[in-house]
Amino acid sequence: MIANKNFTIVGAGLVGSLLSIYLAKRGYKVTVYERRPDLRKNRMSAGRSINLALSDRGWRGLEGVGIDDEVRKIGIPMKGRTIHNLNPPIPLLKGEKGGLTFQPYGKDHQANYSVSRGGLNCLLMDIAEKHDVKFLFNEKCTHVDLKTTTASFENFETKKISEIKSDRIFGTDGVFSAARMALQTSTDRFTYSQSYLDHGYKELTIAATKSGDFAMSADTLHIWPRGNFMLIALPNLDKTFTCTLFFPFEGEISFASLDTKEKMLKFFNEMFADAVALMPTLAEDYFANAASSLATIRCFPWSFEDKLLLLGDAAHGIVPFFGQGMNCGFEDCVVLDGLIGLTPSLSKGEGDWTRIFKEFETLRKPDGDAIAELAIENYIEMRDKVADPKFLLQKKIEACFSEKHPDKWTPLYAMVTYRTDMRYSEALSKGKRQEEIMKKIMAMKDIEKKWDSEEVEKEILKMI
Ligand SMILES: Cc1cc2nc3c(=O)[nH]c(=O)nc-3n(C[C@H](O)[C@H](O)[C@H](O)COP(=O)(O)OP(=O)(O)OC[C@H]3O[C@@H](n4cnc5c(N)ncnc54)[C@H](O)[C@@H]3O)c2cc1C
Repeated sequence: MIANKNFTIVGAGLVGSLLSIYLAKRGYKVTVYERRPDLRKNRMSAGRSINLALSDRGWRGLEGVGIDDEVRKIGIPMKGRTIHNLNPPIPLLKGEKGGLTFQPYGKDHQANYSVSRGGLNCLLMDIAEKHDVKFLFNEKCTHVDLKTTTASFENFETKKISEIKSDRIFGTDGVFSAARMALQTSTDRFTYSQSYLDHGYKELTIAATKSGDFAMSADTLHIWPRGNFMLIALPNLDKTFTCTLFFPFEGEISFASLDTKEKMLKFFNEMFADAVALMPTLAEDYFANAASSLATIRCFPWSFEDKLLLLGDAAHGIVPFFGQGMNCGFEDCVVLDGLIGLTPSLSKGEGDWTRIFKEFETLRKPDGDAIAELAIENYIEMRDKVADPKFLLQKKIEACFSEKHPDKWTPLYAMVTYRTDMRYSEALSKGKRQEEIMKKIMAMKDIEKKWDSEEVEKEILKMI
């Protein structure tokens, strides 16, 4: 243990729990304060989505502390998207059949893993405890005194207030971070914005079959794209699927308008007939589960001297349409650990933490902003474009070209999801450039007929 160095982490969610392992492995004494009860004792919701997609940046975060194999045991690999087209099916490209279209995420070996949020969070806490991390539950952070590095917590059960002074505080308390509030209220020129989508989400369930199997293919993410809204489904280990309906809050077709069982069932039967047949508890779930909102949070700076640093959603809350919020937070842990590793004197308990925190936020802020932008753009792609034959053709051309010239072209989705050597900000700017090229290619005469021709290949090569 590095002499007398006590670190406080606020929030034992996914990022706080992983960060605690990184810091404990570096020899610090880490205590994590969490406002909820211990998830491992109370089978309650772990907050927000029931399951999430874990991809390469997230895996890199887990590999960094050697726990990827343990996590893999609770994940289900998804190799691509299965699009459930509306009946009658959208016009198909040559060689495609029926009302379902499969779109691989990337190359054969590339997959995103569906993991239970609660299951992953519990596992991370179990592993952290093996490294002597201490977790204290029902402790809500109410205030952080930046000058004295003191965090105040109110215990939900006893109402007791504790004031905890430590050497450093890490704020991983999510989108509505109390740690961030300290920066907002007690520092000059703290920039902050939050913006909500007009759409929210509601979770529903596709049951296992009577024989206890998955009701649909479990190796893909299922999407019912419907223009202004969509339904998605990710598989769970218990052979159910958690479906998420992303839907407008208000308007003619909205959570507000589908306010009776009859209206809701009529609408679902029109839009998602094949899913409804697999959802025996649809009506109960729809009215029991509240619609939740989706926000993008941008702020800066993320640190105060050598005393406080924000990571994860507390620093960069994003909408979930690229499946990157947690992955980005796990990458934060890798980047911070890398910077700590570059300061050898820290192993003796010394070192310039102010510099580390500054370097961290300077490096990560452009990436947080980039993934926030990409996430909003991907919402439009998922709910609208994935059912558009022109868009599908464009993706085929990109995949074909990238197959022939892997050193020259990586599709945007693959750059964001699988290229852990590439920053989000770089993926965003390369993606914009590639999109400009593809616009010109898609405008070529008879592109539908010659999309895999040498002429198209040469044209792209000319523009790169
Ligand atoms: C519908 C939906 C689907 C998503 N799907 C994906 C996906 O597929 N892939 C992906 O990578 N990301 C996904 N995300 C994003 C992902 O959920 C977040 O990015 C991730 O949870 C961030 O982790 P975090 O630890 O920073 O914050 P959180 O997970 O929000 O954890 C914060 C923790 O802090 C605690 N806390 C809050 N306030 C206090 C306080 N005052 N005092 C003490 N403790 C406090 C909370 O109880 C919580 O335990 C999705 C998000 C949503 C909403």
